[in-house]
Order: sequence, then structure tokens, then C-alpha cells
Amino acid sequence: MNAAILSIGTELTLGQTVDTNSAWLSQRLAELGIRVQWHVTVPDELEPIRQELERACAQVDVVLVTGGLGPTADDLTRDALAALMGVGLERREEYVEQIRAFFASRGRDMPEANIVQAMFPTGSEPITNTCGTAPGIRARWKDTLIFIMPGVPREMRVMYDRDVLPVLAPLAGEGVILASTLYCFGAGESDIAEKIRDLMARGRNPTVGTTAQQTVIGVRIHVQGRTRAEAQALLDRDREEIRRRLGTLVFGENNDQLAAAVAALLFDKQKTIATAESCTGGLLAGRLTDIPGSSRYFLQGVVTYANEAKTALLGVPADLIARHGAVSREVAEVMATACRQRANADFALSVTGIAGPGGGTAQKPVGLVYIGLADAEGCQVTEHRLGDCLTRDEIRDRTCKAALNRLRLRLLGE
Ligand code: AMP
Ligand code: MG
Repeated sequence: MNAAILSIGTELTLGQTVDTNSAWLSQRLAELGIRVQWHVTVPDELEPIRQELERACAQVDVVLVTGGLGPTADDLTRDALAALMGVGLERREEYVEQIRAFFASRGRDMPEANIVQAMFPTGSEPITNTCGTAPGIRARWKDTLIFIMPGVPREMRVMYDRDVLPVLAPLAGEGVILASTLYCFGAGESDIAEKIRDLMARGRNPTVGTTAQQTVIGVRIHVQGRTRAEAQALLDRDREEIRRRLGTLVFGENNDQLAAAVAALLFDKQKTIATAESCTGGLLAGRLTDIPGSSRYFLQGVVTYANEAKTALLGVPADLIARHGAVSREVAEVMATACRQRANADFALSVTGIAGPGGGTAQKPVGLVYIGLADAEGCQVTEHRLGDCLTRDEIRDRTCKAALNRLRLRLLGE
């Protein structure tokens, strides 16, 4: 079985609202083993909506539509469906009463404009909206099932679960699609793709693909099986193989964050951490304490932004800063070492760098960052040149990730 998803709304085609409905519906259909052939976003205009409905009905078994069911003149989805079916709209009194009752339950009179929401193309079936005013519409055109749901994401989700899923599930048959994503840090997308190139070949089942988001590389595995057990077995086999090939590049699965991976390791090994930050201004401490239970491993963090603060709070010698600059290997080393001693922690991370957009020089450009990692053995500082085409936010984000990743690899014994 296959499907198409249509999102209706000029706010969507203008880019003012991001279409989250299609993503949500695609995931639900995938769980049923229904293949989504395409998404299309259409403005609130009658003829384009009608055309897209027609094109979808000619090619897929199920069309899911969201949006354009409101009470105002720009909501034209019901008219477009009527135009496709070559019928008129008829008023259904029980739905007028439902809408009136919805308003009454909130102590309001129903505006006249809302009556249009109780108008349905002849031959279609209304779908009750249990948490808003716009009923949905179910219709069949040629051999295709059409479900139209409200655009408001919460109303759409409730309607899908209550009235659409129970119809689709028995039709979808046995097939199951499962998906899983492994998250990696520490290599580029193409390096990672090279290591698993054969698994990424077209036409395989599972299909394997990579995505890159702010230096975190996701390796997505999608598998189709006749039964859940078959799909799961195929998924597990690829997941293990990919983990074996990528080793410690993989830090987590299915929405894990790098900080959560580090937290789990610190917790596991019963180690503690302290932080000394300059250009990240406390962001690193923030990431480490975003995780519930962080008091078990996070001891303290200092933000030493000014040179004087580095001297006063961490004892970084003023002449060392004068000689090498605040953004230097030497200063990062003293920051981490002193931070660890003062906090009495197993590890300390220090960060000093130039987040930009100003403040760069030829020798020390924007994006130059030093990260110190101190433990009982001493302190190692790494230099990172993140490049000056990144925004300040991106430089600070990547600095945190690089720092967290160094600690992660150390905890893994690398
Ligand atoms: P409508 O049913 O077209 O009146 O949509 C009502 C509201 O739902 C819009 O103003 C949007 O804020 C939101 N909305 C509509 N379509 C989507 C969509 N595809 N994804 C996320 N939000 C949407
Ligand atoms: Mg709309």
C-alpha cells in the first residue's frame, strides 16, 4: 500500500509555518508499513489543491491531507475536494450542532462563519473533531481513500489516532517498516559513508543513509519486513555491523545527545567532572547539567571570561596571559589543571577561544579554540580551527561538542 501527504496552507508555502504534520504522519504510516511516495505543500488556492488531489488519486492508494478546513474564506480544501468529485457541498445539521456545542462548552456563541465547517462534499463522510471546531472529511475517489484533517497539529494527531489509524491498519496488511538512527561524532559525513559504503547501496533492504546536523552525523537504517520480527532481525543485523565498523565514532542511538552519552559514562565509571570556560560562557556546564541526575558527576563550573577572572578564580598567571594571549594552549592548560585541583574532580575540561564575529586576527582567527582535558596524569590541550564561516552560536555549539567528545573518548580509554 502506498500514500501521499498533502499539506495545505499559504502560511506553509510562504515559510511562515513549518510543516510538521507531514513528518508526523509519515512516521505513523511507516509504522503500518505504508510507503509514503511524496509530500506536497499547496497554498490556499482552489485549483492547485484540486490538481494535487487528482494527481495523488491517480497514483496512490491513500491520500492524507491536512489544513484548509477553517471557517474563513481562505480555507478551500473542502471546496477543492468537491470540485475533484464533481459534486456540491451539503450541510449536515448534526455537525452544525457539534460545532455549536463546542463553542457552548467554552461559554461562547457559534459565529455564523463556522457553519461552513459543517458543509461536506456530497458522497463524503464527516469525521468528528473531538478537540476543535473543524470536522475532518473522509472520501473515496476512484480507488483512492482520502482523509482530510485539520491543520492544527494537536487536532490532526487526535483525529488520526481516533479515526484514521483504525481504518488504515487493517488495510495495510502484514508489512512493517522499522527505523533506527545511530549518532556519530568525530568524523565527517563522507568518511563515515566510506566505511559503510556497501551497506548504503541502493536497492538493499535495509536502506542505510547518512544525515549531518551541526557536525553530528546520523546513520539512519530503514527496514521493511513481512512481520515485525523479520524487520527487527534485519535491523539488528545492520545496526551491529555499522556499530562494529564505526566503533567509538558512534555515541548514541535514536535522539541521544552527546552530553547524555558522556553522562552515562561518567556515571558508570563513577567519575566526576568540573569545567572552566571562557568563550562558551557556561554552555558546557549547561550541557553537562541538562541531564537529570547530573549532581552525581558534575561538581562545579567557572566562567572566567575576563583575563582578571582567569587569574583571580583559577590562578592563571597574568604574565602567562600577557605572553601567550588568553586564547592559547598554555592558558587552556592552566585553566583545566587548576580547575580540576580546586574542584577536587577526576576530570576538568577547559575552553578558551574566539567565538566571533569580531576579535579575530591573522594568527588567531575566529573559530580558533583550545580545549584542555586534565586528569590525574596531567593535562592535554587540543587546538581546533573551526573556521570563520560559522556563526558565533555554531562555534560555541561545536566547541561544547568537541569538549564533550574528548571526555567521552577518554572515558572509553582512548
Ligand atoms: P488550518 O486547518 O489550515 O486552518 O490550519 C490551522 C493552523 O494549523 C495554521 O494556522 C497553522 O498554524 C497550523 N498548521 C496548518 N498546517 C500545518 C502543518 N502542515 N504543519 C504544522 N502546522 C500546521
Ligand atoms: Mg489554513
